[in-house]
Amino acid sequence: MKWFPVSLKRSRSNRKMPEFAELTPEHRAELESIVGKENVSSTQEDLDKHAIDESPLDPHPPTLVVKPGSTSEVSRVLKLANENMIPVTPQGSRTGLSGASHPIHAGIALSLERMNRIIEIDEDNLMAVMEPGVLISDAHEAIAKHGLYYPPDPGQESGSVGGNISTNAGGMRAMKYGVTRDFINGLEVVLASGEVIEMGGKNIKDSTGYSLIDLIIGSEGTLGVVTKATLRLIPQFKYTALIYAPFKSTIDAANTVREIVRQKIMPFGLEYMTQHTVLTVEKYLERKLPDNSHPAYLIVAVEANTKEELERQLETAGEICLDMGAVDAYIADTAQRQNQIWEARKAVFDAYLAMYTLDEADICIPRSKIPEYVERAEAIGEKYGVLLAPVGHAGDGNLHYNIIKLDETPEEEWPELMESALSDLIDMSHEMGGTASGEHGLGYTKRHYLVREVGSTQVELMKGIKAVFDPKGILNPSKVWV
Ligand SMILES: Cc1cc2nc3c(=O)[nH]c(=O)nc-3n(C[C@H](O)[C@H](O)[C@H](O)COP(=O)(O)OP(=O)(O)OC[C@H]3O[C@@H](n4cnc5c(N)ncnc54)[C@H](O)[C@@H]3O)c2cc1C
Repeated sequence: MKWFPVSLKRSRSNRKMPEFAELTPEHRAELESIVGKENVSSTQEDLDKHAIDESPLDPHPPTLVVKPGSTSEVSRVLKLANENMIPVTPQGSRTGLSGASHPIHAGIALSLERMNRIIEIDEDNLMAVMEPGVLISDAHEAIAKHGLYYPPDPGQESGSVGGNISTNAGGMRAMKYGVTRDFINGLEVVLASGEVIEMGGKNIKDSTGYSLIDLIIGSEGTLGVVTKATLRLIPQFKYTALIYAPFKSTIDAANTVREIVRQKIMPFGLEYMTQHTVLTVEKYLERKLPDNSHPAYLIVAVEANTKEELERQLETAGEICLDMGAVDAYIADTAQRQNQIWEARKAVFDAYLAMYTLDEADICIPRSKIPEYVERAEAIGEKYGVLLAPVGHAGDGNLHYNIIKLDETPEEEWPELMESALSDLIDMSHEMGGTASGEHGLGYTKRHYLVREVGSTQVELMKGIKAVFDPKGILNPSKVWV
């Protein structure tokens, strides 16, 4: 698909960007001497691969793909780039959904994929230390072998630890545990100048000075490159189970989210899907879920250390669902059945991407407002003639709205319709005290919504912080704000 978000076009004229230099053969030779010849590439295949993420933005190929293997290599690459005004775009697995890892100004795509070592799982301090290129699925697997648990669980398992930190990724378990920020205890970061700094570590408490670590988390590669992370862990629960509940109406399902919270049940996952989503994912995976004939569905996932406690939670959550309008409550208590439901839930976005032209609103609102949001959003879909498929983390208020092109909509009208619907959805979230991005970040495609949400004073504070960390502006330019 070829399009530019409408508002970006509008804002291009007043963009003040530093003058970047072109990479020369001499720069390339120096980069090769730092990371090894085999880790600097300009093959068409590599440039194409590193030009995109999972957002619908047009590709932005870098001039060179550079893959460092250590902190000192990252440091030397950044020093070279900084001295020569070469833009650098840090990249994890490029599964982001807002164009944050697109090398908008070409230059160096700094891929952290070779830095994928799990350095330590420290059972005494309940911490894991690892490099940024470790895939989050590999991190979870290695940690689970020690009977431990790293709660942040974004739907895309091939995302990297560094990417998760840099977007402050959320995911399925945020309702109970919070997001990536809540589980990062220490970071090693290379600044634009090449200087390496260590923040935090294994101390549970730390009130010493400003929390720079919190600035780096969620900064989308604009303040520094994460080269090592210390993750907080908790003991793993012995038992988990989930309920798959079909509802007679979308509003009943949305109201049930509020009721479950009110009744003080704290599921670790509370996900919402409509029938459109269930049918789409069934078609994509070529298998059936327990029910596909009702307007809306909730997945309510609970965990406990005894079977009795697990059953108590299942019973209470099941009764709430039935009282609130669920037509049934299918219980999955074996690992196999739970995996079938989670696999389907995690495949939703890939299914939509495979079958439709779309973009996604990543809004987050106070969860008590979900029924009102679901009801009012329908009118936005009708106003612009787009299909809205809400799906996601209802338990924490982060209900993603897939904005889908109808077959009859002409290609040329789609970008404007999509952006208008997105804009209205975001405005509506603001009216309800919500935010434009709950977990994906603003990156490139959503950056023009920042000022609308936080106002110019806060944007100027952010620009001041950027200027201190990266005075020449070489790190991931044109991201987060316009
Ligand atoms: C099907 C699907 C489902 C998804 N589900 C979720 C979900 O449930 N929750 C969620 O939060 N996200 C979700 N995402 C979005 C995406 O997976 C996350 O944003 C993820 O954190 C991106 O990680 P990545 O390694 O792919 O990073 P990239 O896309 O490569 O980069 C993302 C940003 O991080 C920066 N970055 C990457 N590594 C570093 C580093 N070491 N140092 C500094 N900056 C760095 C990049 O410059 C960029 O700004 C989903 C995506 C898909 C395709």
